[in-house]
Amino acid sequence: MQHRGVTVWFTGLSGSGKTTISQALEKKLRAAGAKLEILDGDIVRTNLTKGLGFSKEDRDENVRRIGFVANLLTRNGVIVLVSAISPYRDVRDQVRQRIGDFVEVYANASVEVCESRDVKGLYKKARSGEIKNFTGISDPYEEPLTPEVNCETEQETLEESVNKVMAKLEELGYITPVAV
Ligand code: ADP
Repeated sequence: MQHRGVTVWFTGLSGSGKTTISQALEKKLRAAGAKLEILDGDIVRTNLTKGLGFSKEDRDENVRRIGFVANLLTRNGVIVLVSAISPYRDVRDQVRQRIGDFVEVYANASVEVCESRDVKGLYKKARSGEIKNFTGISDPYEEPLTPEVNCETEQETLEESVNKVMAKLEELGYITPVAV
């Protein structure tokens, strides 16, 4: 497989499937020999953006810093998989403008379904008030209006979601399978 640099930006509620899809995609792309990096919101918040909180200002700053690194990698030919709630449309669009080679993937699931999954037990804490400013419960989420890929994770299997992203990357010319 040949590829160009691109940032694949997963946005969506906590528990919507960002990490799961990006990790499955990582496996597939690595197996095909791609140069790839993952910037996962949960991990980034323990280093690059450590100390930032969950106000709008801090969430936007978190997204800008992730975008800054993603841009450096993208222009050096790396496929960057970003997985971050990134709830505000404006700053997502700013990052898109800056990077250019940017594919937005909406991990789309209702808050009810995400809450019933409660992968990390965070919704329970948000409901009890232990966590404040929790996206979807006590903080806003602005869904993308025209994402390149809409993964409806309530209905699709993981494989279907991954294949949708792969197909879009191919359609846009970011990855090209090489005949052997
Ligand atoms: P996020 O990274 O968005 O917080 P996670 O990836 O940690 O979310 O959790 C998503 C959950 O949804 C997982 O338990 C996963 O198995 C489940 N799931 C069900 N269908 C899908 C799908 N099509 N794509 C991704 N995840 C799915």
